[in-house]
Amino acid sequence: MNATTRGEQVVGESAERGSADRPADSSDGRVPAVVHLDLDGARHIFRLRGWPWRAETDPVFETGVPRALDMFDAFSIRATFFLIAEDLDDPPKAALVREIARRGHEIGSHSLTHSPLRGLSADQLEREVAGSRDRIHQELGTMPAGFRAPFFSIDAPAVRAVARAGYAYDTSMMPGRAVPGVRRVPDRPGPVHEDLIEVPLPAFRPLPYPFHPSYSLVLGVRYFDWGLARFARAGAPLVLLFHLIDFAEPLPSSMVGGWKQRLFTLSHIGGQRKLDACRRMLDRVRRSFSITQTTRVVDSARSQHRETSA
Ligand SMILES: [Zn+2]
Repeated sequence: MNATTRGEQVVGESAERGSADRPADSSDGRVPAVVHLDLDGARHIFRLRGWPWRAETDPVFETGVPRALDMFDAFSIRATFFLIAEDLDDPPKAALVREIARRGHEIGSHSLTHSPLRGLSADQLEREVAGSRDRIHQELGTMPAGFRAPFFSIDAPAVRAVARAGYAYDTSMMPGRAVPGVRRVPDRPGPVHEDLIEVPLPAFRPLPYPFHPSYSLVLGVRYFDWGLARFARAGAPLVLLFHLIDFAEPLPSSMVGGWKQRLFTLSHIGGQRKLDACRRMLDRVRRSFSITQTTRVVDSARSQHRETSA
């Protein structure tokens, strides 16, 4: 037990030293930002909370994806969409995923079934991490480069599984939030285990809630502006993490019962109001950061690391 616990330390000290002094990697002097979208549809949101989902269709997925694609086109953004790979078994969803790839965006894995990774057996972990990568490759013909753990539930065995599966980067950690077995969570994109780069999500302390658009849609634009100004000052590349519910049409009242189902699918906010808010958030980010693709940020972090360790 002690020996394996020792083996679970995945961040090498030498790999991390000096990372805080690294210059921001941006061609125009501004700090880079990347736009991510987690493809959690109504079926997975309901399943997570133990609510039955009886509909044949998934309007969160089916309205959220086209609306997000149109907005990213309008901003000329190449985003990264994190897919729960079992959704490829659903033909309308698979068609939308192919459309995402066709329009030039990156597809990453958000696991196979959206199970929290901490505490899974080695076999289950392999299925969720490597199995989802194979499933996406089988469908799209390209290997996904990135991985995001469901619920940001990651630990050292999961990090090693992500590296072993061949992903170029993971994006599940937040600075200031402990990851079991990981000595130090990087505060900007950098190596976390062997060749695997971690692209950390914005730390939200002392903000009371995570910094992402879903919270900003509930808490208001001031919350977003306050957080954004803080991250711009910190100078690290920003991950702007959207969820499908940020873009989707509110679920019809026949599909949601009670305020909780309404709140957790953001169905209490009108479709147009959501789009206006998302547009405004993207515009704010564009003014303060240089929006780029995740693989570019990852490549740049990797070459900076090679230079400093050469
Ligand atoms: Zn998720």
